[in-house]
Amino acid sequence: MTLSTAPSPTGTLIDGKGFSAEVRARIAAHVSALGARGITPGLAVVLVGQDPASQVYVRNKGLQTREAGMASFEHTLSADTTQGALMALIARLNADPAVHGILVQLPLPSHLDSDAVITAIDPAKDVDGFHILNVGRLATGQKAMVACTPLGCIMMLRAQLGDMSGLNAVVVGRSNIVGKPMAQLLLRENCTVTIAHSRTRDLADLCRRADILIAATGRPRMIPGDWIKPGATVIDVGINRITENGRSRLVGDVDFDSAVTVAGAITPVPGGVGPMTIACLLANTLTACCRSAGLPEPEGLTA
Ligand code: NDP
Repeated sequence: MTLSTAPSPTGTLIDGKGFSAEVRARIAAHVSALGARGITPGLAVVLVGQDPASQVYVRNKGLQTREAGMASFEHTLSADTTQGALMALIARLNADPAVHGILVQLPLPSHLDSDAVITAIDPAKDVDGFHILNVGRLATGQKAMVACTPLGCIMMLRAQLGDMSGLNAVVVGRSNIVGKPMAQLLLRENCTVTIAHSRTRDLADLCRRADILIAATGRPRMIPGDWIKPGATVIDVGINRITENGRSRLVGDVDFDSAVTVAGAITPVPGGVGPMTIACLLANTLTACCRSAGLPEPEGLTA
């Protein structure tokens, strides 16, 4: 798979939007081939409550699922849904052969136990890759469902760099959904991996030694250009809404304007990692469908 890139003042701009379109086209082709065998991959998305941002995410997921030729099952439950009702829905979706992937939109309202809900999802349908079994499989090098955002990052890195053996990778952020699985995936690629977090000493010095720098902190522009090794590949996972000069805009965890003059390649925000996340959700749904049908997994769309 080739990565669509555009020249920038010094570094290469990694075009996640273009790359994700290419990935979604490949998925659609696989889905169409499955259709000829009478198989349609299905993704169920569960939304509890009416958080506006979550509603937008769920709508986009449904739209892109249908565009890829898959079946989309959207379940919207009221904000006062009980744990029991939510668990009963998960049990129904686990048992439904038309559903190959189940995603529960997080965060859930505070009266609900997210860990219990995620643990209740059939690991084979856990397209978010959050189930403890999938986390353990990833950590032990077994076939797993991998969290969508780090999966998207590793796909972009593979397309950009090819062999990553021996490269120094620094992951800034240690969350369960981004930082930790990202570090595991980089280890699988034979990188020498360091995970940094809010207690890390001399973060600037650590970042300056990274051939691959992953920023996943949720701190707007906290990594300036002079923390970046010349020629490094920078993946900015952060999505932060800020107001600047009276205008609301999205920025990453990396200060793009200074970083782009030093990095060898860098993802922009928006238009970098973000679009890859939904593409990888579709990729995981397709993979889950192929596995359940006993068919070969699509190449290049898994970890
Ligand atoms: P979390 O808040 O769960 O984790 C943030 C991590 O960053 C923590 O490990 C924290 O350390 C670390 N951190 C915070 N401040 C600093 C600092 N000053 N120096 C070093 N490390 C620091 O965030 P997520 O992992 O969920 O998300 C990270 C970012 O990625 C957010 O901007 C989020 O919006 C974005 N995101 C984007 C997605 C996409 O599709 N592109 C998907 C998911 C997230 P500690 O553990 O010590 O507190």
